[in-house]
Amino acid sequence: MQSLFTALEERYDEMVKLRRYFHQYPELSFQEVNTPLYIANYHEKLGHEVRRNVGERGVVATLKGAHPGPTVALRADFDALPIQDEKDVPYSSTVPGVMHACGHDGHTALLLVLAKTLSERKDQLHGNIAFIHQHAEEVAPGGAKAMIEDGCLKGVDVIFGTHLWATEPLGKIQYNNRALMAAADRFEINIQGQGGHGAQPHKTKDAILVGSQLVQSLQQVVSRRVDPLDSAVISIGSFEAKNAFNVISDTAKLIGTVRTFDASVQEKVQKEMKRIIDGTAMSSETEISFTYEKGYPALINHEQEASLIDSQLTSIDGVEQVEHAKPQMGGEDFSYYLHNVKGAFFFTGAQGANVDSPYPHHHPKFDFDEKAMVLGAKSLAKLALHYVGSAQKTVNV
Ligand code: MN
Repeated sequence: MQSLFTALEERYDEMVKLRRYFHQYPELSFQEVNTPLYIANYHEKLGHEVRRNVGERGVVATLKGAHPGPTVALRADFDALPIQDEKDVPYSSTVPGVMHACGHDGHTALLLVLAKTLSERKDQLHGNIAFIHQHAEEVAPGGAKAMIEDGCLKGVDVIFGTHLWATEPLGKIQYNNRALMAAADRFEINIQGQGGHGAQPHKTKDAILVGSQLVQSLQQVVSRRVDPLDSAVISIGSFEAKNAFNVISDTAKLIGTVRTFDASVQEKVQKEMKRIIDGTAMSSETEISFTYEKGYPALINHEQEASLIDSQLTSIDGVEQVEHAKPQMGGEDFSYYLHNVKGAFFFTGAQGANVDSPYPHHHPKFDFDEKAMVLGAKSLAKLALHYVGSAQKTVNV
């Protein structure tokens, strides 16, 4: 039998075809219907044991190896974003206002083709592979938590996942032994003051003034309360208050995000924000409500499993660099799997060779080099086979 890697290379066209199909028919988080159906049918044709509607919309397919051994899970997410596709390509989205702008179409395509290719080698597998196809990664509370609660990790010993990363060159793999991505929280601040005539400010409680004080003073938390050797971000992304030119606004609403890696820093930031908000309410004689919603926890890799990314993936044909990278402040609900089983997550560079300044993820013109899908599949395969390949290495990569 030809080597697994050669087989994956020869199925590049199939990966592209699948990826472009998903790209043309994207579905929003928590609204996925046809994508999971397509995925489940694909695995069923391969003879895998398939569980549909896991955690409501996810799919788990299990490939049972011929020999006993551990179970490795490989995860790909499949939801799209509320963005209008502005790319001028034959495979652009056919759904107005919905687009695969984060590469989840590529994750799905590479995992399906990898499943098919591994399936043909099941006689040589010492253990099982669970393919976890997850819905709703983009929107908290996310699909991972619900799928775990619905048993997707039952019997799983170790899990791996990758994200195609279009702003890092093709051939580069990035990982971290510990934190790779941040906890991503959301907060909302509602200020209730007292409106009135712009010419008589002394008879009002100006909500816009109070809001702008908060925008400034909340920045003290990171600069003056968090240990400079720890990481934290407070960003206010929305400041809503509106009135006529000569009317003082009675309300203002601030919405923002907090990013941290460490749970104790996360608690501290929340507590200090509350203190500043309460103090501002007192001094301005306004009422201010503060809601803080925790999003995905920080993605913390397990050290031993993460070290395999370095030791196993460096030798893959096409991988030019495996880099121990700085963590990113973005969030990812793969973190929940890592709270339950050992495993690791990494980035697979997907910037095209002739693309100088790639559009970032979530951009209306986002795209990636499809060749990265082959490297993602090879990488996940190599990690899985570390556990379920036989001692004699009968699966020829
Ligand atoms: Mn993503």
